[in-house]
Amino acid sequence: MARVLVTGAAGFLGSHLCDRLLEQGNTVIALDNLYTGRKENLPQHPQLTWLLADIIQPLSPEQQQHIGPVEQIYHLACPASPPHYQRDPLFTLKTSFLGTLNTLNLAENWGARILVASTSEVYGDPQVHPQPESYWGNVNPFGVRSCYDEGKRVSESLCFAFRERGVEVRIARIFNTYGPRMALDDGRVVSNLVVQALQGKPLTVYGTGSQTRSFCYVSDLVAGMMALMASGVSEPVNLGNPSEFTVLQLAEQVRGFIDPALPIQFLPLPGDDPQRRRPDITLAQTRLGWFPSVSLAEGLPLTIADFRRRLRA
Ligand code: NAD
Ligand code: UDP
Repeated sequence: MARVLVTGAAGFLGSHLCDRLLEQGNTVIALDNLYTGRKENLPQHPQLTWLLADIIQPLSPEQQQHIGPVEQIYHLACPASPPHYQRDPLFTLKTSFLGTLNTLNLAENWGARILVASTSEVYGDPQVHPQPESYWGNVNPFGVRSCYDEGKRVSESLCFAFRERGVEVRIARIFNTYGPRMALDDGRVVSNLVVQALQGKPLTVYGTGSQTRSFCYVSDLVAGMMALMASGVSEPVNLGNPSEFTVLQLAEQVRGFIDPALPIQFLPLPGDDPQRRRPDITLAQTRLGWFPSVSLAEGLPLTIADFRRRLRA
């Protein structure tokens, strides 16, 4: 049992991670500024302490006293959906740089092991397919996605610098993950399509829908993050499901589960939208013994059921 700080705890991934950590008997400090997260995502639990804080600012001595020391930190705080991280690019950049710097400082002061949530976006619009960790990527530093892509690359660079100082860092390069509890207005493709289909609206597909993504169900991803935290691997590790789909295939699957008669509405492709994305997860398989087990055909109905419940409520 450990005392664990989770930043970004009220968000989609953070809240599922908190559930799992509590189930295993850990004590959890859940930090979030509610930029995209919701406090209702978190359970009322005697072992959970809530802390409303913006990680761009260093925690005050009182806050540190209240929280620490902890043995583990999962640093997830950062908007993850393109419309949300592009809403205020400077906020996203500050969260990625100052937020990660502040959190790494806490890890160093407390002697805690820290897992930082990085992303497949560090590969940009990849020219190597599938993407292994050794690929350095193809990122536009001066575009609409750069606040997030370059921000996460800086987060990884900070991890490297702190590892040199002796901090135990773990870096998860997370690929597209979906599931229950994504915000109704999240804006990412799975939640958009599911909400649209449940409301009987046309499904929005950007571009021709020939671009690909590889979708991981949230329970698999959380298991991967916890396996990485427990491991001795201090280099970046891809976590994702290697089953690759075009966005059009995804839209067809979603409407197949809800209403096959719904129309698809093609909208312009946003700037710098990666054409292909699929993780090479050899490293996670061999070093963590981790492999995702929930297929898209299994995960989508679970996700749809949750959205249906929330839209009715
Ligand atoms: P999310 O938007 O649901 O959650 C992010 C959480 O961080 C929210 O609760 C938000 O309020 C909080 N937050 C943002 N900025 C903050 C700040 N400055 N201080 C404190 N809290 C702040 O997104 P998510 O999908 O749960 O993503 C969690 C993490 O995983 C992010 O770091 C994201 O970049 C990474 N990631 C997610 C995916 C995915 O597919 N879900 C893929 C790659 C990487
Ligand atoms: N997309 C889409 N319709 C939507 C939302 C997204 O076709 O309503 C596309 C988007 O252009 C991208 C893919 O779906 O090609 C995945 O988008 P998302 O925002 O989920 O994540 P990304 O991997 O692009 O960060």
